[in-house]
Amino acid sequence: MRQATFAVLSLLLLGPSLAVAAPHEDTRYLRSTSHHHAPRPWRRLTDAIIRRIWGVPEIQKGLGGTGRASAATDGDSAGKLLAQYAQYAQYGEDMVMRFNISTAEEASALAEASSILFLDVWEFNEDWVDIRLAKDVVPSLLGLLPASLQKSHVPLMQNLDLAQAVFDSYPSPSGTKSHDEDRSFSPTLGSSPHTERGNIFFQDYQPLSVISPWMSLMASMFTTHVRSINVGISYEGRDMPGLRVGVHPTNNEQPSGPRQTVLITGGSHAREWISVSTVNYLAWSLISSYGKMPSVTKLLEKYDFVFVPTLNPDGYVYSWETDRLWRKNRQPTNLRFCNGIDLDRSYSFEWDGESVRSNPCSESYAGEAPFAGVEAQRFAEWAKNETQNNNVEFVGFLDLHSYSQQILYPYSYSCDNEPPTSEDLQELGLGLAKAIRMSRKGHAYKVTSACEGNVAISKNIKGRNGRLVLPRIESSGGSALDWFYHELKVKYAYQIKLRDTGSYGFLLPKENIVPTGKEVLDAILYFGRFMLGEVGVLQWVVLQQVC
Ligand SMILES: [Zn+2]
Repeated sequence: MRQATFAVLSLLLLGPSLAVAAPHEDTRYLRSTSHHHAPRPWRRLTDAIIRRIWGVPEIQKGLGGTGRASAATDGDSAGKLLAQYAQYAQYGEDMVMRFNISTAEEASALAEASSILFLDVWEFNEDWVDIRLAKDVVPSLLGLLPASLQKSHVPLMQNLDLAQAVFDSYPSPSGTKSHDEDRSFSPTLGSSPHTERGNIFFQDYQPLSVISPWMSLMASMFTTHVRSINVGISYEGRDMPGLRVGVHPTNNEQPSGPRQTVLITGGSHAREWISVSTVNYLAWSLISSYGKMPSVTKLLEKYDFVFVPTLNPDGYVYSWETDRLWRKNRQPTNLRFCNGIDLDRSYSFEWDGESVRSNPCSESYAGEAPFAGVEAQRFAEWAKNETQNNNVEFVGFLDLHSYSQQILYPYSYSCDNEPPTSEDLQELGLGLAKAIRMSRKGHAYKVTSACEGNVAISKNIKGRNGRLVLPRIESSGGSALDWFYHELKVKYAYQIKLRDTGSYGFLLPKENIVPTGKEVLDAILYFGRFMLGEVGVLQWVVLQQVC
């Protein structure tokens, strides 16, 4: 065991540097040359379709399959570098545009265009819609939209290009250098839970090959209150690892009631890396604070917390090795060129995949039938089994996503039906947002029903209550949020979209890993105090000492 722990530690220490083992100079060379000479090695389907429809000429010819084949080579640093090179080339001509929406006509036109053209809609809410596309097809898209939208759009990430932002989101050679000073990460981590700067694990986003052994390490280091679990096997055969954190009463005299459990998940959408790192940060914070912070100790004696950072492990690995902006899982569809099912549209409650059934290329393809998405089905099975056979009662579900800084509560599938516990959901949701805002340099998160967060709502038209629900940009049936709330009867179910609001979108710089972790940790501690009945009477005090 000792040897195994040492091996895992070595992996942790070396992990970030292994991910990019090439000298800095080489990287710079690739960055500068790829910009001028490297066309995207393979044509993105969306762009191809737009070009075919409008006859936009192809400016660049593909490189062929060489980049991709090498990129897929596992564990080979040269291959990984090449993968990054390929990504750089892949996104070199892409951009993200934000459309500000104010009328029903605009919302309809964008919804239609995004569906017809299989546009990669990054995020949308009542204020704006962010769309990624190739620069040379922008005029074609604009040609489809009403005149009012011709002027109400801005390019995001103006000061850096998309490919550069993709590149920067990987652990960098320069970042690895600074880690040398901080190689204090050791088995004594538990004795210094408040010095996250010393924990290299949170200085970079981490690949699955580092996260999995890290989770095993947590379980072997903190045997009193951490257990390693597996919530399913992915389509490609990977584990979906989790950590169960909590202190079970050892008193066997009386049969105890169901163990109340809070489920915290991330990585359902592969490219939302901040959701993965945040789940890990929350796990680590609670784990390392047990026995040191009375409030955390109390919480873990009363409740179990289950952390699942990568609900979509195949997609996550793919986003590291091949396509940084991949969203879905990786299972084949009936269309050879378009893999992947959107796991957050795959759950059985109010599944509404009919509309995109024939469109496996859509970024939000819901599959052929409810629970066609392998990982969603297995995770749901696991959760059901926990409640039916393992004496577990899920009392909270927090599904982390990015981006747009929103706390969303059920239902997501429709605004027509109000959830029975709507008031409680709103009250706690506002409390979570307040905890984040009061957190150390915490950001503002908006609280709303998931259905409203997912449609465009006009603020200019003064209808009833001054609000008018506009056409949906994308439908949101079959979500994990609704399924856990409705099918598993989880009273407090939320989807939290983390930082930012569009400056970097999914390519949030790694400097945000710890601050985002901290603000959400404060929300989790509030959540705990709410469940323990400690908030409401006394004013809640931000727990500054934690991490
Ligand atoms: Zn998401």
